[in-house]
Amino acid sequence: MQLIEKAPAKINLGLDTPYHHQDGAEEWNMVMTSVDLADYVEIQTLTKHKRIRVASDSGFLPNDQRNLAYQAAHLLQTKFNVGEGVNIRIKKNIPVAAGLGGGSSDAAAVLRGLNQLWDLGLSWQELAELGLQIDSDVPYCVYGRTAHVRGRGERITPLSKLPAAWVVLAKPKVSVSTPSILQQIRYDDLEHPDIDSLLKAVRDQDIEEMCAVMGNVLEPLTAHRYPEITQLKQQMMKFGADAAQMSGTGPTVFGLCSKQSRAQRVFNGMKGFCREVYLVRPLP
Ligand code: ATP
Repeated sequence: MQLIEKAPAKINLGLDTPYHHQDGAEEWNMVMTSVDLADYVEIQTLTKHKRIRVASDSGFLPNDQRNLAYQAAHLLQTKFNVGEGVNIRIKKNIPVAAGLGGGSSDAAAVLRGLNQLWDLGLSWQELAELGLQIDSDVPYCVYGRTAHVRGRGERITPLSKLPAAWVVLAKPKVSVSTPSILQQIRYDDLEHPDIDSLLKAVRDQDIEEMCAVMGNVLEPLTAHRYPEITQLKQQMMKFGADAAQMSGTGPTVFGLCSKQSRAQRVFNGMKGFCREVYLVRPLP
């Protein structure tokens, strides 16, 4: 049996961490949404043996147990004592190590797909809790729709759909290691964004207010190491974005535009500065 799951990229409209837990894991307070730049994950179950195989069309990805999609299949196979193997083929469209959650989204796609193919009957919340064992962004990616995300990443409250918006993504040439940025957090020095106001703006469908209160507490940390992030933000604003911000731990910068014509102008302009630029929409 086989199926294909879509694994969309995520962006962080708001990202804050108020403290970290005793085991070192961050407590998150985030507003996330998914956009229509997506990987496609083909999942085929095999009855002859229990091997898990991963292949992708990207030269940048491990194909063994380091691949988050492999880890998702292994987690379900062992937890539910499934006697079947899996072939996973990933068509990679989301840039790797970009702050767009591509690996987490692939893992979430495998959780959703195998839940169906192996008839496990797990709810989204149960899949999200399992996904937390793989990465803190996996629970959100199981849902893959605009949500308020708290806890270590497992407390997901879906939100109403966003007001009409276009998103320009620009990924500078650097790749960012998430752990190396998280290790740099000094909680006393952080400038926290106002996530409550952002939630209100989303609920009120008020894109102007959304743009005014968006914020990513980690942006200064990554931008200090990679100044091109600040330059890309400035360029986006110059070309007419309503707001521009780094996603996740970076380095991808996204510009939010309430008008398609403006988004097209930002997209065209950014192509002169950056090789990897995408014009996308938030998923409904
Ligand atoms: P995060 O912020 O969740 O770490 P990211 O968007 O910055 O995510 P990813 O593209 O998910 O970055 O990649 C992070 C790391 O995960 C990379 O070092 C990559 O090699 C590894 N990885 C493992 N499996 C995958 C996968 N299926 N797709 C992308 N990266 C993967």
